[in-house]
Amino acid sequence: MASKPFPVIDLHEDISAYILESERNVKPFNVDFERHVDIPKYGRGNVVLVVGAAFPGEYKYVGGERVRGTVFRCTQQRVLDHIATYYRLVKEFPEHLYLVERRSDLLGLGERKGTGILIGLEGAYPLDDPWDLEVYYRLGVRVLGLTWNIENRYAASCMSKRDYGLTGSGSELVDVAERYGVIVDLAHASKKTMLDVLSITSKPVIISHACIKKIHDHPRNIDDEVLEELKHRNGVVGITFVADFLGKGEVGVNEVVEHLMYVYDNFGVDILAIGSDYLGTTRLPRGLEDIGKIQLLFKKLLEKGMSREDVEKIAWRNAYRVFMEVLR
Ligand SMILES: [Zn+2]
Repeated sequence: MASKPFPVIDLHEDISAYILESERNVKPFNVDFERHVDIPKYGRGNVVLVVGAAFPGEYKYVGGERVRGTVFRCTQQRVLDHIATYYRLVKEFPEHLYLVERRSDLLGLGERKGTGILIGLEGAYPLDDPWDLEVYYRLGVRVLGLTWNIENRYAASCMSKRDYGLTGSGSELVDVAERYGVIVDLAHASKKTMLDVLSITSKPVIISHACIKKIHDHPRNIDDEVLEELKHRNGVVGITFVADFLGKGEVGVNEVVEHLMYVYDNFGVDILAIGSDYLGTTRLPRGLEDIGKIQLLFKKLLEKGMSREDVEKIAWRNAYRVFMEVLR
């Protein structure tokens, strides 16, 4: 008999971006269609919780090409559209999806039916002031990325020409996030931003979707110094399935295993999690084309000699630990 599938927490999926840009309607989300995630695939993958990103930016595109010289723009309206998309999803499929807003919503997570959604703002661009976070908190945002690839008044991003790290306002924002029980997400941040936040925070943080620089050198990947500090702070990194971050050329599930094993061997199991970036990326590893296949990854980890207990930590328990500690 096949062993029980592991419950899964996925720290980053671009669900609302996909719905707003492709289908513009939440209704088909329960159809098993050729896309990275949907309700039937959550069932097959045994996915108990996802962080659904609210992507705050827009570039101007014409015919699929970014228009030269256009700047990244964030409008409050667009962010509200993303958040409202998550409300519509849980309203449309109350048997399958529910919104997670407080610690008590997570009790018994590994056992309960359906998939919880935590809304995550992927960059603090819509906040004119750190205290504006309260507005988004009241709207249900529980994960706050400081930046996407564009730097802002709070922090330098991984693409910044000059890495100025966390600013004074950024440090105030981290403080406000902690007061509200909002989880700080350092994916897309610069190295100095990551180290600055890790040096001041009193709560664990997440790096929701990234890979490991030692395995593949990419600006979005993280180095050993950050991993060491993340470990001291009891945070987690969601190893992502973005093919470009995993390695050169064609990649498969074995490359994902390689990034996970590097952290496992050098920093221990407790900082590892999964952050697929499904619906936010186009190139995925062979074998992990959609979230319905995610148990294959855990099978590979067991084959590498990991205990069931350790695989369970990577699949969901580590991320769960952070959410339970930070959420109110
Ligand atoms: Zn991202």
